[in-house]
Amino acid sequence: MAAEELPPPEATEQWTPVPAVIAAPTGSVPSDAIVLFDGRNLDAWEPVRSGEPGWKIKDGAMVIVPNPKPCDQRTKIALGDIQLHLEFRTPAKIEGSGQGRGNSGIYFMGLYELQILDSWHNETYVNGQAASIYKQQPPLVNVSRPPGEWQTYDVVFIAPRFVADGRLTSPACMTAFHNGVLVQYGAALCGPTVFRGVPCYAPHAAKLPLVLQDHRNPVAFRNIWVRELTLPEAKP
Ligand code: MG
Repeated sequence: MAAEELPPPEATEQWTPVPAVIAAPTGSVPSDAIVLFDGRNLDAWEPVRSGEPGWKIKDGAMVIVPNPKPCDQRTKIALGDIQLHLEFRTPAKIEGSGQGRGNSGIYFMGLYELQILDSWHNETYVNGQAASIYKQQPPLVNVSRPPGEWQTYDVVFIAPRFVADGRLTSPACMTAFHNGVLVQYGAALCGPTVFRGVPCYAPHAAKLPLVLQDHRNPVAFRNIWVRELTLPEAKP
């Protein structure tokens, strides 16, 4: 097509809506983030079973406290579509093997687990290693650091959508970076994480608390924040 037959450049310019202006200064969280843990207190968290102990703060990190009955911790707020940043450290002293070594996890909406595990020279099933969507999707690569070192997860989690009669219209979806490296790309989840059997969706609220797993290993966490996402509707 000749240039003179093309529409003017302005025809494909979009001027509104103007994206919100936020700040992301070096070394601090984005200005529109909700800080879930900054090393000072556990105010954003509660045990999933009331009456059970919370976790402790040690050297600015949130640490799982050994408990005869493991007790996960959840956010007091409910979350749906989010960007999450979280740093974790598996114990420096190697104890146990496979799934018993530095195991924890992030349960988005309390249902969909991104695995935390010490996967430094630690063989286990690949859809259960660090950065796997547990029992569903292995990570693209294993970029685990040695035990005792801090590691990062940066995750985009999109909640599943259900219609009024309970039918699933779009599955939960996850993109994740482990230590800055892409490990999950637009992975569609088959349903909530299950240890045995095949996952199966059941309708639930649009927002639910984020849960950190107590798997009896003293994994530590720091610098946890989320940004709630408002995504554009899919274009037809
Ligand atoms: Mg786990």
